[in-house]
Amino acid sequence: MVTAPMSPGSSVHVEDDRTGLSLETIRRAMADNLYYVQGKLPENASRNDFYMALAYTVRDRLMPRWLHSIRNYSKPETRVVAYLSAEFLLGPHLENNLINLGIQDPVRQAVKDSGLDLQELIEQEEEPGLGNGGLGRLAACYMDSLASLEIPALGYGIRYEFGIFDQEICDGWQVEITDKWLQFGNPWEIARPEAAVVVKFGGHTESYTDDRGRYRSRWIPAQVVKGIPYDTPIAGYQVNTVNTLRLWKSEAPESFDFQAFNIGDYYGAVDAKVVSENISKVLYPNDEPIQGKELRLMQQFFFVSCALQDMIRIHLDSGRRLDSFHEKFTVQLNDTHPAIGVAELMRLLIDEHYIQWEAAWDVTRRTFAFTNHTLLPEALEKWSVNLLGRILPRHLDIIFEINRRFLDQVRLRFMGDEVRIRELSLIDERGDRSVRMANLACVGGFSINGVAALHTELVKSTILKSFYDLSPEKFNNKTNGVTPRRWMVQSNPRLARLISSKIGENWIKHLYDLRGLEGCIEDGGFRHEWRQIKLAIKRDLATYIRERTGIVVNPESMFDVQVKRIHEYKRQHLNVLHIITLYNRIKANPDADITPRTFIFGGKAAPGYHMAKLMIKFITAVGDVVNHDPDVRDRLKVVFLPDYNVTFGQRVYPAAELSEQISLAGKEASGTGNMKFAMNGALTIGTLDGANVEIREEVGEENFFLFGLRTEEVNTLRAQGYNPWDYYSSNETLKRVIDLVGSGHFSHGDTGLFRPLLDNLLHHDPFMLLADYQSYIDCQDGVGSAYQDQEHWTRMSILNTARTGKFSSDRSIRDYCDDIWKVQPVPVTLEDYDQAEAVLTV
Ligand SMILES: *Cc1c(COP(=O)(O)O)cnc(C)c1O
Repeated sequence: MVTAPMSPGSSVHVEDDRTGLSLETIRRAMADNLYYVQGKLPENASRNDFYMALAYTVRDRLMPRWLHSIRNYSKPETRVVAYLSAEFLLGPHLENNLINLGIQDPVRQAVKDSGLDLQELIEQEEEPGLGNGGLGRLAACYMDSLASLEIPALGYGIRYEFGIFDQEICDGWQVEITDKWLQFGNPWEIARPEAAVVVKFGGHTESYTDDRGRYRSRWIPAQVVKGIPYDTPIAGYQVNTVNTLRLWKSEAPESFDFQAFNIGDYYGAVDAKVVSENISKVLYPNDEPIQGKELRLMQQFFFVSCALQDMIRIHLDSGRRLDSFHEKFTVQLNDTHPAIGVAELMRLLIDEHYIQWEAAWDVTRRTFAFTNHTLLPEALEKWSVNLLGRILPRHLDIIFEINRRFLDQVRLRFMGDEVRIRELSLIDERGDRSVRMANLACVGGFSINGVAALHTELVKSTILKSFYDLSPEKFNNKTNGVTPRRWMVQSNPRLARLISSKIGENWIKHLYDLRGLEGCIEDGGFRHEWRQIKLAIKRDLATYIRERTGIVVNPESMFDVQVKRIHEYKRQHLNVLHIITLYNRIKANPDADITPRTFIFGGKAAPGYHMAKLMIKFITAVGDVVNHDPDVRDRLKVVFLPDYNVTFGQRVYPAAELSEQISLAGKEASGTGNMKFAMNGALTIGTLDGANVEIREEVGEENFFLFGLRTEEVNTLRAQGYNPWDYYSSNETLKRVIDLVGSGHFSHGDTGLFRPLLDNLLHHDPFMLLADYQSYIDCQDGVGSAYQDQEHWTRMSILNTARTGKFSSDRSIRDYCDDIWKVQPVPVTLEDYDQAEAVLTV
């Protein structure tokens, strides 16, 4: 028997040492884990040893729920969501698990009773940075919501040995440091070598006739690699569901190829091992697709093949046949990175399970659903036919056959419309022929969704228009969301407590309940508390900023924050043009009435993206001058905080008062940072782009600072022939800003340093900074004045939080469940729990 409910003190029987929640039991469990798992005595244990001991203690308390949830997957009647993503940007697990299990208080006390500090142990955890930015973080939020909504779900991805690089700033420039997140051990994962699968690469295909006289294909690979699953529990909030995130590590099938060894080719054998292990070695640090990198294609195929083989095994183990595979599993493709899965499922069904093409195609098309994340046509993933054929010869054959049958149908409907046929084709015949992964995902699945209302409309009318004309019923919108557990309860406990004191705790599961706060905005005492909390968090961040950068900032100034990947389309440099505009005003009139502001930036640049790296230098260089100019009198401070990641996000979103969401309209698919800021009471200055549109709709236009061109205006301007120089030459303020940069004022007289950035703005400006400049400055002036009226600002801040219910990832996941996946919650019950039996049946 085991304690069923996780509330301390509610069990009537003797506590199990590994699941019990009394202070004494937790304290003893930590001591045991330190001794028996870490192999340390308290007197020579490091902080990491204590962290590990605590992590194992928490993991033990997840275990009965996890094993019960796993048992659910294999019941034949359970429908399971498989979320396939090349990235999961999880962030640290420990505190999140404490919150979702509801065991923060007893654990904090037990840790304290052991003479330790819970916060210190929480900060000891290396975050698993297995993603670049928004797309990977979305996958992590969705895993949290799937579990919290009690949906049986498996996340499948890659266990990168090195995640996104750590960023340091040296002399104002980004320097990349290898992310060795596994070096001190990962207590949250369990390796399952017994569930390993084999993945093939390269070689050639052969045709043959089987013993029933049927024509078949056989793939003779040049290389095989083993995929080893590593499972991480993903606990739902206040429910028994603990889903599995299954990440795959690549290994050589045997540690040495003995045949090669015997003939004396020892180094050849070692090379093969190295090549195999390279597949899951490192995350590509690009936010946009990487063109033509063979290893990247191998990564994609590797984890997708592992995942599909795993699902097929689970399905067959439950005693069902593969013609009902799509009833058991619904597979969401997070962007095109796993789209090769369409061809791989066909191959597995046809070549390895002897199913006929038509039946296999029917299953495949009912299995996959595809989420599109981009509007930039150049970001649509393509693989050259040559490369794909070399790595995956059988899949290239299958893709050609899918395409042949598909285009035959298209021709029936659109006879003679060769332009349309060229657009729909899975093969781009121009130049070096290539396979279009988005087209493969559109043809091979039953659903295509965008990630914000505007984005979905633009997908239908631009990049996937021909598919929309062909199959409008496949298209739907699923506006992104973020989990309020991590992004409010965990990152902003003070605000969460204040909210709960007014409206109870239900909002954590039903974020629309935050609406209840609207009734509090006329309560002066409540507004005062709201402001005091923001101020306290800003003070903490100010301390952190001083420790990390040496820069002293004023916690009473407005915290104006832009944290996200550094990218031209996100326009961090537009923000900098505003800073220089304010600086020029002060230089022209040292007594100018300027609302004191602290500009906080954070974000990584892809290592090969030179303009983005120059943008970082631009921010830090302007900061160096502004922060030290005596005329500024500390009214402006510019901070670039290094190494933006989930842990850092948890510090900075709650401290923000102004959220910079200033991408050129029509470029950002959704954004999720915008949601985290608004939930935590920041006001947004933003364009009508991505989910900003919906945030403004929800919070009310009077509580949102809107500026800039709309998508249609951008298109019109571009069609007319946009000339940035016209804006420069006709706007004196803008000209002074640009010229000051050009004069070397921010580069110790070096007029060449920022030349590439300026030339790009003056002569190309693909993201139309100069066109949006004046509108942005005017809007920022409005922000500055609004901030002077703190009572009114606080009202707007409260209303932002109160009206962000829509942006919970629980809402997103409910919509996916109802409209796309057709899955129901399956509550996990522990009542019949019997440890001995559970161990035997798993
Ligand atoms: C939320 C988040 C993002 C996405 O931010 P956007 O502003 O939507 O681009 C990227 N990285 C991290 C670490 C995040 O937490």
